[in-house]
Amino acid sequence: MTTELEIGLYIFMLAGFLGYHVITRVPPLLHTPLMSATNAIAGISLVGSLVVAGADYGPVSTILGFIAVTCSTTNVVGGFLITDRMLSMFKKSEEQTVRQKRFPFGRALVALIILGAGVIAFLYWVQKRGEGAEWMAHPTLHAETLKYSYIFSAALFILGLKGLSSPKYARKGMQAAAFGMLMAVVGTLFHPEIVTYKWIVLGFIFGSIVGGTMGLKIPMTAVPQRTALSHSLGALAACLVGISEYFRHQGELGAVVMLPLGFEGVVGGLTFTGSLMAAAKLQELLPGHPITYKGQNVFNLTLLAAIAGSLIYLVVAPAAPALFYLMVGLAFVFGFLLVIPIGAADMPVVIALLNSYGGLADAAMGFVLMNKIQIITGSLDGTSGFVLSLLMCRAMNRSALNVLFGAFGKVDAEESARATEARGTVRSISPEEASVLLDSVRSVIIVPGYGMAVAQAQHGVAELARLLMKQGINVKYAIHPVAGRMPGHMNVLLAEANVPYDHLYTMEQINPYFPEADIALVVGANDVTNPAAKNNKNSPLYGMPILEVDRARSIIVLKRSLRPGFSGVDNELYYDPKCMLLFGDAKDSLNKLFAALKS
Ligand code: NAP
Repeated sequence: MTTELEIGLYIFMLAGFLGYHVITRVPPLLHTPLMSATNAIAGISLVGSLVVAGADYGPVSTILGFIAVTCSTTNVVGGFLITDRMLSMFKKSEEQTVRQKRFPFGRALVALIILGAGVIAFLYWVQKRGEGAEWMAHPTLHAETLKYSYIFSAALFILGLKGLSSPKYARKGMQAAAFGMLMAVVGTLFHPEIVTYKWIVLGFIFGSIVGGTMGLKIPMTAVPQRTALSHSLGALAACLVGISEYFRHQGELGAVVMLPLGFEGVVGGLTFTGSLMAAAKLQELLPGHPITYKGQNVFNLTLLAAIAGSLIYLVVAPAAPALFYLMVGLAFVFGFLLVIPIGAADMPVVIALLNSYGGLADAAMGFVLMNKIQIITGSLDGTSGFVLSLLMCRAMNRSALNVLFGAFGKVDAEESARATEARGTVRSISPEEASVLLDSVRSVIIVPGYGMAVAQAQHGVAELARLLMKQGINVKYAIHPVAGRMPGHMNVLLAEANVPYDHLYTMEQINPYFPEADIALVVGANDVTNPAAKNNKNSPLYGMPILEVDRARSIIVLKRSLRPGFSGVDNELYYDPKCMLLFGDAKDSLNKLFAALKS
């Protein structure tokens, strides 16, 4: 006879395959919204958390469940809101002139929250009425409601991710997924083990306030760190539910439950601290450069082996509480140690990998609670993070192992300075001179990079491009797959500045146009334009596909200094005789350039 575990494993595998096919069809343009969308969907850990917070499992479980409900609600509300904000920005040129009928997502969300509160109030009333409402307390009704709401939600999540394969349907797809989440949550509120809604309601309120503020207020430039923060909250929820389940059973568990439970605690724990570190590095609260010491990899691997050994022991002899809590504690430490040797600009790969781990922790939670919707979404989330990290590694011509253990980006300052001196001089240009050049050309390719995000110069770039276009100049945008600090980062920023997405060209599309371009205008991009990636076998960047800016007739680079980009590698492009550097903050420089061009 097929056991629940077998069914769970089949579901996990099939959802993974389906997820792979759906996610590999998402264009690079929508990779950033994909990350926040899977993040929101991974908030499905909410359904497991709701039961722990509302059931009568004892005060420890209730408190852990309440924290988990708060974290998961933050992810759901924040994740769907910010995804919708991003997707509403993606428009084609013709759509920009037509006034779009905006779907009032914010209002719809408030309505949904009120609906959820209504359902809770109704259930509370039923509970209070006791005998008078036996029909409501009937176990068959609970089980049927749960079963069908979960099947419906799973279908909507997959449709939602499928919608992301085109900007045209992406928003509607995500609205369907948000509705799927509501169905799953409402269905779970009928769970027979829930006896009180007090902590659930409080968790909903706190989570909605924090998530809503994050989703509506966070600037687009801070999306990478928000995503990392959300992963950490989702992972914490999974880890806490795992701890609560272990505590509740006092280790009296079979191997079939102990394995996913231990996995949930470990992966949830390390993803929590790892993602927190990633968010702090991207927010520049911690130094962005890799922090390394002698024997670091050996130490980390030994720690990992100790964690794995503890897990195996616990599967064989689950009733060892001290070992369980020690193992989870070590996992917290491991997450921290895993991320400190990684440079800030490798964080997107790390975030995507941690996203994948978070998905696995969610799926493990699904196995512990035998909750199939969590197994499906955990598998989808895990696949999405994994696919994205592989795509990023391919775009950088690096392996995931090199990112995790290579301490890439650790710069030898002296060597870098020596290399700079050896290369000779660079030509600088003033905004006025640059405007004269731009006034006399027919085609310009704009190359945005991380510096544009730092300077928040996307609006300046878009305004300048519009002015050039008005003057009959052909303007295209060249988007490198790993420009910025997140896959698809530049697309979101430019969409925010109302740049139609049909003006954005991928690296493969734009490279043949560079030889015809009169000017390549590089705004805060560095590594993704470095010709050493093509010409210099000794360069750490060698082999990384780049935007072939050096083939344009002239190049103007907007940056503040001659400092290298994240890789720490000097850019030989700046010593090319046809390259001119407009030094200064990109936003300031663009304002001056715009004013000079207009006058
Ligand atoms: P980059 O190589 O990091 O260079 C950014 C440049 O922006 C710097 O040279 C900096 O020069 C300039 N800059 C910073 N602030 C500025 C400001 N306020 N105004 C003007 N310029 C400013 O960026 P990139 O070319 O976009 O390349 C991205 C890097 O991240 C690549 O190495 C890529 O491999 C890595 N990465 C990206 C992803 C992803 O998903 N996007 C994933 C993993 C790794 P100054 O300091 O002199 O101004």
